[in-house]
Amino acid sequence: MVNETWRKLLTKDVVLLDGGWGTEFQKNGLPPGMHPDLCNLENPELTKQVAKSYVDAGSDVILTNTFGANRFVLEKHGLADKTAEINRRGAELSMEAAATGRDVVVLASVGPTGVMLMLGQVTEQEIYESYLEQITALKEGGVLGVVVETSSDPQEAVQAVKAAKTLGMIAVVSAVFDSGRKKDRTMMGATPEAYVKAALDAGADAVGSNCGRGIESFHEICARMREAAPTTPIWMKGNAGLPVTIDGKTTYHQTPEAFADGAMALVDEGAKFIGGCCGTTPEFIAELRRRIDAR
Ligand SMILES: [Zn+2]
Repeated sequence: MVNETWRKLLTKDVVLLDGGWGTEFQKNGLPPGMHPDLCNLENPELTKQVAKSYVDAGSDVILTNTFGANRFVLEKHGLADKTAEINRRGAELSMEAAATGRDVVVLASVGPTGVMLMLGQVTEQEIYESYLEQITALKEGGVLGVVVETSSDPQEAVQAVKAAKTLGMIAVVSAVFDSGRKKDRTMMGATPEAYVKAALDAGADAVGSNCGRGIESFHEICARMREAAPTTPIWMKGNAGLPVTIDGKTTYHQTPEAFADGAMALVDEGAKFIGGCCGTTPEFIAELRRRIDAR
């Protein structure tokens, strides 16, 4: 069933993902200081509204409001005892939103733990157990798989992929390349090639990159991942150009049209999954829907 749905999704020429969630939450009234993932319990209608805005914009795949819902992150907010509940509800809310569209698939967002394997702050086993707990709850909520996103340590991402695979789920790995002289390394120093190898060895179903830079800067990463994994679907979710900080508030000024130009160029270069990260909204995804349909 999992494989059948995934295979059907891959028969599309291009699979349209969703856009940013953070700004949508703020725009629609997330209380200041609240951990966004707590919204799944405290204000589920808001979570569902953001998910539905991407279904309505034409996404083939939407994610979930569970990026920061692993035990390590939730502990910092005093919410560790709600880990399973936040993930299960997050999955259910996106599934409910997806059901209002046609053939919309839900992959759950799984973010970094924020603790450093490299520095010996935790063991791989502890990271694995944390991801297993999170992904077990996401599976109960009905999602097809997970996207291990905004990742910077391949060894951490591998633990999440292993947990997803133990549970018979789809796993996508997406890293942020915004460091190094050529901006082709993650914060932890990993290259696109290292990411592809680690992800595929662990059994990932797709690999890619999100966040960090504007969509127009993703060409090299896309090409190198394609070359390192010629038969693996490539996942690309760039930001809406360069951020502008005014009075401590970060905003993005790229238009949906300019973003779509950059995104469609990546599709031409072999990206299978395309969507947006920070600064992108349902308007950006709707513009991409028009471009993909007209292709
Ligand atoms: Zn982002």
